[in-house]
Amino acid sequence: MTDVSHTPNDLAAYWMPFTANRQFKDAPRMLVGAKDMHYTSADGRQILDGTAGLWCCNAGHGRREIVEAIQKQAQQMDYAPPFQVGHPAAFELASRLAEIMPGDLNHVFFTNSGSEAVDTALKMALAYHLARGDAGRVKFIGREKGYHGVGFGGISVGGLGNNRKQFGNQLPGVDHMPFFYDQETMAFSPGQPETGAEVADKLENLIALHDASTIAAVIVEPVVGSAGVYVSPKGYLDRLRKICDAHGILLIFDEVITGFGRLGRAFAGNKFNVIADLVTTAKGLNSGTVPMGAVFARDGVHDTIVNGAPDGAIELFHGYTYSAHPLACAAALAAQKVYRDEKLFERAGELESYWQHAALSLKGVAHVVDVRSIGLVAGIELAPRPGKPGQRAFDVFIEAFEKGLLIRTTGDIIALSPPLIISKAEIDQIFAMLEGILKATA
Ligand code: PLP
Repeated sequence: MTDVSHTPNDLAAYWMPFTANRQFKDAPRMLVGAKDMHYTSADGRQILDGTAGLWCCNAGHGRREIVEAIQKQAQQMDYAPPFQVGHPAAFELASRLAEIMPGDLNHVFFTNSGSEAVDTALKMALAYHLARGDAGRVKFIGREKGYHGVGFGGISVGGLGNNRKQFGNQLPGVDHMPFFYDQETMAFSPGQPETGAEVADKLENLIALHDASTIAAVIVEPVVGSAGVYVSPKGYLDRLRKICDAHGILLIFDEVITGFGRLGRAFAGNKFNVIADLVTTAKGLNSGTVPMGAVFARDGVHDTIVNGAPDGAIELFHGYTYSAHPLACAAALAAQKVYRDEKLFERAGELESYWQHAALSLKGVAHVVDVRSIGLVAGIELAPRPGKPGQRAFDVFIEAFEKGLLIRTTGDIIALSPPLIISKAEIDQIFAMLEGILKATA
């Protein structure tokens, strides 16, 4: 029986984000509960979570340790201002996180979302060059198809037309590298494509165009997430790193999706052995339980900004009312402990080949034109219906939801990124259900 207390009787007031509001409100899909690998829908069905919520609930849902930590913190101290005052959990969390970051990414600035983390990192890059006396470095280079959240900084360096076209001018002084993906040569590559690293060299063209002395930073997702799961070709990120180094340009990895075990290592930086100067994170930081993001800065970036300021001065005029919110910190400390105790990052790494094999089993199934995967992420690209881009994948999404599986679609690409606690049986279930739905889809 439906619990009517969970069924709002008027859907008009809530303006939903990134949602076809009118379509949704005609046929709502309501979630009312979540435990481990499953959501519960308002009509009482169990829905297997193939997306860790929105790439974030890496420890699975309703984890007792995290819930209790949030409850305890709410009781002990609900809120503490983060400017000129601190609280122990923020410092403890930053220390624990610095321990798992690759290289000397030892300094953590807390935000409330990935979008804020991106804007924070862009500001840090500008402040870094200014502190070095290189005030002319004010431009940013992003990449086509990049998704870096929805702040004005993020949509400017981002490369998704739909996210920009309603919003007039963006940041000036931004250019974009071409995308590396080529379906003809890369389709159905397991893991990192063997070809395509040379596309990184196109960065040199933009440097020649703008002059290195004007460029503050390059920002990329090490694995493209929101635009449809595209894995960087072998050697591509190394090349970007080398080019940035050669020209004194900072490299920012946006690890909002790839961070915290998604690729089978703590971070993409570990997985690909490339250390960025700034790393943006959010989502898995506290397993999606309380809004939180974080930017990690290397010693050199942090020290240049902080030690470059006069004694007693605020070194970075930036921060949020809810930076290092006590509930978010408590949740993150607990989530990180779950990750550690249950070795969830390693677990994702161990499952990677099983997952990849299962995903690639969709090769040859109706409409499937590419399968991309790495760690516990997969993108399944479908051929669009003539004249109706995105419709086929959206129909699969609706059908999957009805049948008890949560997937995500972007255009005609299905994106999967389950909690890292997923079992092999549940992996089989996801791909068997998808296969069945695809075969039955026009
Ligand atoms: N950067 C990347 C790579 C993302 O995938 C996302 C969200 O999906 C963001 C930034 C924005 O994060 P948020 O939605 O928390 O602002």
